Amino acid sequence: MIRCYIGLGANLHQPLQQLEQAVAALKQVKDCELIAVSGFYGSKPMGPQDQPDYVNAVAALDTELAPEALLDQLQQIEQQQGRQRKAERWGPRTLDLDLLLYGDQKINTERLTVPHYGMKQREFVLYPLHQLAPQLVLPCGTSLNSLLEIVPENGLTIL
Ligand code: ATP
Ligand code: CA
Ligand code: CA
Ligand code: CA
Ligand code: CA
Repeated sequence: MIRCYIGLGANLHQPLQQLEQAVAALKQVKDCELIAVSGFYGSKPMGPQDQPDYVNAVAALDTELAPEALLDQLQQIEQQQGRQRKAERWGPRTLDLDLLLYGDQKINTERLTVPHYGMKQREFVLYPLHQLAPQLVLPCGTSLNSLLEIVPENGLTIL
């Protein structure tokens, strides 16, 4: 089994319930075991500001699935929960599931960049991740603790 971390985000159609539903769905994914889920956090949107605040969390998941097979499962859950992909980058969504980390592997394919390219800058990823894995070190050798020292909370709240 490989330890993965999944970033969850939602800001439409009762985002708290979207995250609850996503956690229930992650428990059902084949060949995976949901290990832990962080608290739920309120955060400010990235990019376009004319959209509701987000609810974010991070889940630890052990998996026997290959990375792209896991991405397929995550995207299927997004679809089940009514995710509509629009042209606007970082627009509002019912559910976003990002594969943050897949063990200590570095992956670069058409569909997948792991570690997730934005995770080192995003407070709504780093703080919940720290709740689950305070001593985590990224595949690049950077510790989560050192990132938390330089990335401000930016209004992040525990819900
Ligand atoms: P961001 O990627 O900046 O967080 P986003 O989550 O809104 O923005 P999406 O529209 O959900 O972006 O995803 C766009 C594409 O990103 C997906 O089709 C997927 O193939 C690709 N992708 C690359 N790496 C990852 C990853 N680590 N986790 C999830 N999707 C990824
Ligand atoms: Ca299972
Ligand atoms: Ca807009
Ligand atoms: Ca995302
Ligand atoms: Ca995404």
